[in-house]
Parts: sequence; structure tokens; C-alpha cells
Amino acid sequence: MKIKVKNKFRAFVSIIVVCLLIYSVYALVVRKGTDKDNPDTVPENSSAGDQLNPESGEDTKDDSNPSNETGSGESSENKADDSNNDSNDQEKDNESANVRLTEEELAKYKPNEAGKIMVVMFHNFIDTYKSGDKEYTTTFNDFRNLLQELYDRGYRLISLSDYINNNINVEAGCVPMVFTFDDGTAGQFNLVEENGKLVANRQSAVGVMEEFNKTHPDFGLKGTFFVNLGLKTFDGEGTLEERLKYLIDRGFEIGNHTLEHVKLSEITSAEKIQQQIGGNQKKMSELVPGYIMDTFSLPYGLPSENLVNYVIEGEFEGIKYKNRAIMEVGWDPNPSPVNKKFNPLSIHRVRASGIEPVQADLAWWLSNLKRENEYVSDGNPNTVTVPKDKEEEIDKDKLNGKELIVY
Ligand SMILES: [Zn+2]
Repeated sequence: MKIKVKNKFRAFVSIIVVCLLIYSVYALVVRKGTDKDNPDTVPENSSAGDQLNPESGEDTKDDSNPSNETGSGESSENKADDSNNDSNDQEKDNESANVRLTEEELAKYKPNEAGKIMVVMFHNFIDTYKSGDKEYTTTFNDFRNLLQELYDRGYRLISLSDYINNNINVEAGCVPMVFTFDDGTAGQFNLVEENGKLVANRQSAVGVMEEFNKTHPDFGLKGTFFVNLGLKTFDGEGTLEERLKYLIDRGFEIGNHTLEHVKLSEITSAEKIQQQIGGNQKKMSELVPGYIMDTFSLPYGLPSENLVNYVIEGEFEGIKYKNRAIMEVGWDPNPSPVNKKFNPLSIHRVRASGIEPVQADLAWWLSNLKRENEYVSDGNPNTVTVPKDKEEEIDKDKLNGKELIVY
């Protein structure tokens, strides 16, 4: 009897063991299945792998970034992925912080981050030139060709803010450039309705830039528009609020150009200057709450010396303003933000070219400015690289934590 009971017990245990084995296999298969069905888990696992193995991570990032960049957070559909992109960007920054150009690369790119940057000034854009049009007027076709020419010559757009903040991030060997647009003309930008949606008119500078960006995303889609919100601004369809938001949502910047394009040189009272600059900001705050215009473009020069401070700082009807940078109607390229000569309150601009060449307009500088005098990037936003003979041009107080590399 005892033996029989023992045998029965053994059989019972065997059955339980077999059941447990079957269950384990089943559980494994089911778990694998859920992993496959849940796409979220896949990238998470692979990015964890990247962190463990930086070398292989670099390869996969290079493959995945272009697709991220073309869709980079512009549409709200991509918003959910933004956090992922941000962490990718951060990883990229951290990586580039460790990347140094080899001697071969230094010889090839000749980085000079003490050099000059062109801040280009545009005004009107039209279909065809009329007689008398000069550097204040550009046709859409000329503008289209200009973008291609600039791209081919290695220029890349950066925002005015990134320029002032010395936050320049363009590929090694490329030259940063800033676009500015004064007066808020319709040729610069206007909205049209397309399939029930308001979009930038293709026959506007913004429309041309958007089109160019589709095939040359690395050129950059940046620019600052200096507006007079008391006058017609980007005349076309949509409300003024919709027009401003369209630009801001796409990463363009809006700067102050006084409420009504007054001649500051003829103004004799501090009140009037503050009404014109603070009043423009007040209007902006009503249209786009929270948006601060802290860069200023001078309409027809400066006021008298005792009033200049009100251009920089002031207050109107409870609205305070402080301009970090002041654009002048200029004639020449401006120094690097880490150059001893850089003064954000006096930024010289290069006038765009029109039908007739003008001394020191953009076309003139494109053929006369030597690459060795331009800001040529080392490709790393965390370092400032200069050849030995330019080292003395650097203001070390302006490095702001960035590492200076002299070669
Ligand atoms: Zn103007």
C-alpha cells in the first residue's frame, strides 16, 4: 500500500512539474507577443542600448535623425514625440561636446569663430522690378536664386537670438548668416487660404523660404521680422494675430520697429519714444500674450544723444520694454558674438541686393568678403575654435563657459 501511495504521489508531482513547464513556455511566448505588439517598448529598449554602447548609438542616431528633423515638431501631430526628440538633441549636444576636430579636419574646414557674420536686411519683395528699385527691393525669383547661391557657398541661417546669445550651431566649415526683414510688408509674408487652411503665400519671402526648406532643410528656416503694429502688417488674409502666430509657431522671431515707423531722429521727447516702442510691445502683448519683442530695428537712425537710452529701455502705460539688440541700417558684416568688437546695441546690417548693384550690398560683400575673415564654424556649439593669429580678437569674458580652442 505504502509503495502504491508513493508512486501515486510521484505521478502527481510529475504532472505538476510538467504543467509548470508548459505554463512557463506559454508565459514566455505571450510576453514576447505583447512586446512586439507595443511599438513604444521597441525604441525605448533600443535607445537604452544606445546609451550602453555610445559607438553603435551614434550610427543609429545618424540614421534616425534626418527623419526626425524633417518633421521636427512643426505639426502638432509630432508633439507626442517631442520629448523623444529633445532627449535625442540633448544626447547629440553631449556627444558633440566631446567631439574634437582632428588636425586633418581643422586643415580642411579652417574654423574661425572670431570672424564676421552677415546680418542681412530685407524690405520689399515683388514679382518684377520697376525702374529705380535698388537694394530695398528684391524679386521672388532673385530671392529664390539667392537662397540657392547662399546654400551652395556654405551659408546657413541662424536666428538673431542665437547670434546674440552665441548659441551658434551649424555644421563644421559652414558660415552662419542672419536674415532680418523690416516694415512687415506683404511681400515678406502674407497668408492665403488653401483647402480651408491659412498658409504662407508661395509668392512671399516666407513662402519661398518654406519651399526651399523642403529640399534643403539644413539651410535653416529662420529670420526676424521688425514690425510696426500700428500700421498695415503682412497685409493679406487672416487676422493680424493669425499672421504673427503663424510666424512665431514656425520659429521666426518678431522684433520692434516702433508702432508707426516714426523718425526717431526727429523726436524730441522721451514720452513719444516710449509711446512708439512701448506702444508697439503693448499691441503685441494684446495680440500674442506673453510674446516679448526684445530686439529693435532703428527706423531712420537714432534720436539725439540724451534720448538714446529710451530706445534701449522704457515704459509705456505699464508695459516695460528692454531691447537686448539694436539693428542699424548698415553697410558691413558684423563681428562674431565672442569678438572684442561685438556690441549687440549696434549691429550693422548688410543691405539685400536689388536690380542695380549698390556699393556694399549683399552681392558686393559676397564677392568681396574673404572667407578667412568670416565666421567659419567648428561644428560644435560648445567650443569656440580660432586659428592662432585670431586668438587676440576673442573677448574671453564673452565665452560664457564655452571652451576656447586655438590651433
Ligand atoms: Zn523701416
